[in-house]
Amino acid sequence: MEGWKISEVLAGTLKLDGGAMFGVVPKPIWNAMLECDSQNRCTWAMRCLLLQRGNQRVLVDTGMGNKQSERFFSHYEPTGNTIVPALNSIGISADSITDVLFTHLHFDHCGGAVLRQAGTEADYELAFPNAKHWVSKAHWNHALNPNPREKASFLKENLLPIEAAGVLNWVENGFPFEGIQLQTVYGHTESQILPIVLDQQGQEWMYMADLIPSAHHIRLPFVMGYDIRPLETLKEKERILRDCFESGRNIIFEHDASTQACKLAFDGQHYSMAEPRFL
Ligand SMILES: [Zn+2]
Repeated sequence: MEGWKISEVLAGTLKLDGGAMFGVVPKPIWNAMLECDSQNRCTWAMRCLLLQRGNQRVLVDTGMGNKQSERFFSHYEPTGNTIVPALNSIGISADSITDVLFTHLHFDHCGGAVLRQAGTEADYELAFPNAKHWVSKAHWNHALNPNPREKASFLKENLLPIEAAGVLNWVENGFPFEGIQLQTVYGHTESQILPIVLDQQGQEWMYMADLIPSAHHIRLPFVMGYDIRPLETLKEKERILRDCFESGRNIIFEHDASTQACKLAFDGQHYSMAEPRFL
């Protein structure tokens, strides 16, 4: 089977509260690994993937985009390119994207897929007008009827224009790309999708999205405060880390501002980063 050409597309950075990102881990421990600003916020990447094979161009996640209010963005202080200029900077046009796969629909993963129409206040258009948009149906339903705790992460303007355009495809009905396997996890949110991609050298890479958002989160108790089922996350991390370690699979971090990817080490008790890997 021919593998995929895997590229990083960095859709900028955002700031998120360190305490929320590290859950029950005390600040002196996480802050020794990662600095924060005066408001306790650390800087995180929005690292999307571009998978290319033949005429197929599959984009995995799209960053947060730029269509909300100044007040909204002041909480997150995004920097750098949003997804479309980030793709353009590596010679890829938005029109040429054939498929967009969302790991889940929290705004920092899907916001870049819907743009504000130039010159309008409330009209939207798709950033990738020729693409099928793939998402878990169970997750989509969850996102449209969110619990109050997660509600601030699911923004209607990121979701409804995609539905209205008639481009939604449910991964539960099959995801027809050889060399891309999908795993579903339930701890961070309902039915988050993690792709495992075979590259052109025959190596596998797993995109960890918000199950293990950074290399710091490899440690089992480092589970985000955002997670709706933290004990489920713990079990999923243990199972997936073991599987990736035993199979020699590389893991890719969506939110780590300094480490793209790594191979895992295991000392009989704990998993850790063995060596950084580069896309
Ligand atoms: Zn998330």
